[in-house]
Amino acid sequence: MAPSLGSAIMDKGLRPSVRLGAFLRTVGVRDVDGAWKQAALRRIPAVARALQTETARVLQGRYSAGRVSDALAQAAAELRQALTAAASPEEEAANRALAVLNTGPVGLAEMAADILTRSLRPSLRRVINGTGVVLHTNLGRSLLAPAAARRVAEIAQSYSNLELDLETGERGSRYVHVESLLCRLTGAEAALVVNNNAAAVLLVLSALARGREVVVSRGELIEIGGSFRIPDVMSQSGARLVEVGTTNKTHQRDYEQAITPETALLLKVHSSNYRILGFTAAISREELVQLAHQRGLLAVEDLGSGVLVDELPTYGYEAEPTAAASVKAGVDVVTFSGDKLLGGPQAGIIVGSRQAVEKIRRHPLNRAVRIDKLTLAALEETLRLYLDPQRAWAEVPTLQMLSLPKDELRRRARGLARRLRAALGQEARVEVVEGSSQAGGGSLPAVEIPTWLVALQAEGLAAHQVEERLRRGDPAVLVRVQHDQVLIDPRTLLPGDDADLAAALAAACGLSE
Ligand SMILES: *Cc1c(COP(=O)(O)O)cnc(C)c1O
Repeated sequence: MAPSLGSAIMDKGLRPSVRLGAFLRTVGVRDVDGAWKQAALRRIPAVARALQTETARVLQGRYSAGRVSDALAQAAAELRQALTAAASPEEEAANRALAVLNTGPVGLAEMAADILTRSLRPSLRRVINGTGVVLHTNLGRSLLAPAAARRVAEIAQSYSNLELDLETGERGSRYVHVESLLCRLTGAEAALVVNNNAAAVLLVLSALARGREVVVSRGELIEIGGSFRIPDVMSQSGARLVEVGTTNKTHQRDYEQAITPETALLLKVHSSNYRILGFTAAISREELVQLAHQRGLLAVEDLGSGVLVDELPTYGYEAEPTAAASVKAGVDVVTFSGDKLLGGPQAGIIVGSRQAVEKIRRHPLNRAVRIDKLTLAALEETLRLYLDPQRAWAEVPTLQMLSLPKDELRRRARGLARRLRAALGQEARVEVVEGSSQAGGGSLPAVEIPTWLVALQAEGLAAHQVEERLRRGDPAVLVRVQHDQVLIDPRTLLPGDDADLAAALAAACGLSE
C-alpha cells in the first residue's frame, strides 16, 4: 500500500518541529509568530520545481499533466493556508505543513499524490467506530445484520416482485412485503412504512389532523437531532399544536380541559433523548387512550426508538416502551424508527388500526416519503430475524453490541491491547481500563453501559493529535479522548477492525506500516 500523506508526513518531520517550538520557548523567544511564519511561507516549494521530482514524473504517467500541476498548486495553496491560519508552529496543521517543507519539492509532490488519490476515493466510506456509541447518528446509526445485507445485494441486482402480486399477476403493493410481519410482531391490525420516523410523524399528522388541533404535553415537545422539533413538524403538517401541562408535570385534567370540537387527536411523544427527573407527572399511555376514546378522538404515539423485544431488562437496561405494548394499550397509531434500537435500515414504521393506517396510506404525502425497495429488502429480512427473538439478539448488530457480556468486552479489550503493544512498542503506553459505552441515537439516554476500554497515550503526541490523525486516515478510525488519553471501546468494533486499528495507530504514531 502506498503510504498516505498523513503517514508520509508523520514519518518525516513532526517530532523535530515539536522540539523546535519547545526550544524556542526555553531560550526565551516569545514573539516568534511573524518570524516563523514568514520563514515558512518563503520555503513553500515552487510548483515548477516539484514537477521535476521523480514522484511528479510517476504521477504524470498516471494522470494528465494538467491534473498533476493543478494538484501541486492545490498542495501549495493548502500549505499556505495551514501556515497562515496557525497561531503557533506547534498546532497540528502547522506542524504537518512544516514537516512537508522539511522534505522540499518532494514533499509537495507527495502531497499532490495524496490529493490525486483522495480525488478518486469515494466520499461515503467505511469507518471504524471505536467510540462505544452503538447508534452513532453521525456514523450511520444501525448496521444491518449479514442476512439483511445479503438480501439488499440480491434485490439490488435483480428484478423483484416489488409491486406485483405473483399469485394473481396483478399490480400489488410494496407494503405487503413487511406489513404482515409488522402486524405479527406488534399485534397491530395494519402497518405502513416510509422513509424515516420524522416523515412518519409528519405524514400521520397531515393525514389525521390537518386543519385541526393536536394536544401534546409540554414535557414532550421534544427536539431531536437534525432540527426535528415537534412544534415545527406540527405546523408543517397543517395541524395546530395545543400545549398542555408544564415541563415537569402534566395531569389528566390538563388534557381534558384542552379538548374542544376542533381536537383531532391526543399525541404522546417518547422523550427519547432526555429524561425529566424529580418532581414529575405524566399520564399513562392507558389513561391517554381511555380519554381519547371517551371523547371520540384518536390516540397517537411517536415512540422514537421503538423496540420489538422485551429482553432489554435481562441485559441490565431499563425497559423501553415496545411497539407491542403501545398497540396493546389501544393506541390507534404508533410510529417508530427502523434504524434505532430495532437495528434495521433507516425507515419510519407506522402501525395501528386498519382504518387509521388506511387513511394515512392514501394521503398524497405518502408518495413523497415512499420507502425504496432496498430499504424494504433490508427491513423485511431484519423483521424476519425478530420472529425468533433469540435470533434477533444474536444477529442484529445493534442488539448484539448492546448485549455483549462485560467479560467478553474485557477479553476483547485485552486482545486489542496486546496487538497494539506489539504494533506500537515504545511509541505508546497501552492499558485496559473500565469505562462506559452509550446506546446513542437518542435511545436509552441516561444509561451508562459498563464496558472495558483500551486507553492509550502516545509518546510525544497529545491525545487530540492522535484522534485527528486516526480520523483523517484511511480507513478513518473514530475514538474518544478523555484526560489526554485516547479511549477505544471494543463494544462497537467489528471482526477484523483490530488489525486495521493497529495499522492506523502505528501510522498515527509515526511508525511505518
Ligand atoms: C428519532 C426520533 C424521531 C425521528 O426518527 P428518524 O427515524 O430519525 O427520522 C422522531 N421522534 C422521536 C421521539 C425520536 O426519538
